[in-house]
Amino acid sequence: MRAVSAAAEAAAAAGQEAGAADDAEAPSAAYVHLPFCKRKCSYCDFPVIAVGKDLAGTPHVQDNMQRYVEMVVQEIEASQRLNSEPLQSVFFGGGTPSLISLPLLEQLLAALDQRFGLAAGAEVSIEADPGTFDAARLRSYMGMGVTRVSVGVQSFQDELLALCGRAHDAADVYRAIEAVHAAGVPSWSLDLMSGLPQLTQELWQRSLEQALDAAPHHISTYDLQVEEHTPFAKRYWPGEAPLPSDDAAADMYCQASHTLRGAGFEHYEVSNYALPGHRCRHNMVYWQGGAFYGLGLGSASYLQARGRAAGSATHLIGRHQLAGRCRLPGSCGRRFSRPKRLNAYKQWLEQFAADAEQLGPRVPGAFLPPESADEVLLDSVMLRLRLADGLDLSQLAARHPQGEEAAALVAAALRPHVERGWAVASNASSSGSSSGGSAGGTVRHVRLADPQGFVMSNDIISDVFAALDITQ
Ligand code: SF4
Repeated sequence: MRAVSAAAEAAAAAGQEAGAADDAEAPSAAYVHLPFCKRKCSYCDFPVIAVGKDLAGTPHVQDNMQRYVEMVVQEIEASQRLNSEPLQSVFFGGGTPSLISLPLLEQLLAALDQRFGLAAGAEVSIEADPGTFDAARLRSYMGMGVTRVSVGVQSFQDELLALCGRAHDAADVYRAIEAVHAAGVPSWSLDLMSGLPQLTQELWQRSLEQALDAAPHHISTYDLQVEEHTPFAKRYWPGEAPLPSDDAAADMYCQASHTLRGAGFEHYEVSNYALPGHRCRHNMVYWQGGAFYGLGLGSASYLQARGRAAGSATHLIGRHQLAGRCRLPGSCGRRFSRPKRLNAYKQWLEQFAADAEQLGPRVPGAFLPPESADEVLLDSVMLRLRLADGLDLSQLAARHPQGEEAAALVAAALRPHVERGWAVASNASSSGSSSGGSAGGTVRHVRLADPQGFVMSNDIISDVFAALDITQ
């Protein structure tokens, strides 16, 4: 018989406590990581298993995918259910989840439903790269309950796609768009990257217009980050040609905001735009600091909202949308609750499943120390300021220890930014705005101005952190 890990024993009591906690803090979402890609893109530092450009359908690769999915199902089955209400959203991210066969996807959905419950009308999203799906496949997804498809276009230009080492070309992009429309996907998102080498403002403008012509319900735009240990890190230096300068990158950000808002999209998060009714509900759970399960290689759960006793936390926001990068200021530390390498994940899972067999289902991520109250506070500030909805300081004051003091410090740190028009402060605790609101009373709500405040969001949030004087 395997030994029960000390960490699991220590977590057992905490897990029971977490399970008994009030449901307002219970997870309502699940992220499932499917790490297979045709090839690894030159900027990607995410846990990915490259299967070869034309090999995804071969028996050997399919067997590997099946073995991986079986592991994730095992993880799901060994995980403690902390939600009494069924899940409101599931997100299959990667990697390239659309490489996974339909029966394997169905198996995952069935396991999630059986373990955690899936609400009728739940948002079920899948990331899909051009060149990996057709309309028939999308119809099959919808038949299984998928409601939303996120297409990783990144660029409409063959030269840029090739420079990035993407496995698809522009022709694949147009076929993918056709397929999405032919299948009648009820909500779909298109991902674009700015800040790519050789990208000019003219090309970027054309890309934005091509994105609008594709008529998606949601658009995500990400600025390239040059990550350590990637081929791009050997070739490029941020801010230097052929990458756009910092000023050009900021201009492109503003260009996107003006163009997409002009076309009726709401710029609801720093990098995300949606037509009315098409915000990504799953991502809103992350950004609002809600609890969620994270399952599979390199993923993480957030099960400690507002000081919960058990679970782990991480700054993985938006990670599944683009190469797993945490773009948040203050350095996230990447406290993954699942190892990033397949062998290490296998070992982790073996222990997790063995502990579950002896002690009953485990709290996912219980092997990590819980997030401190200070970390929870910083998360709230950082995430809410990235949303157009902004940060309600009354709620902040009510939810965190020393919340009143923190709220006053946040308002004071933002005052210079309000004066230069990068932030908006209001005396109302709802999202009603009154610029320069600090003059007439206590500031109760703050948000960053679009686009200039969003462009400067990392600097502004760093200023707020400095004012809070909390070391992460
Ligand atoms: S960027 Fe996306 S498609 Fe490219 S290797 Fe990374 S996860 Fe795969």
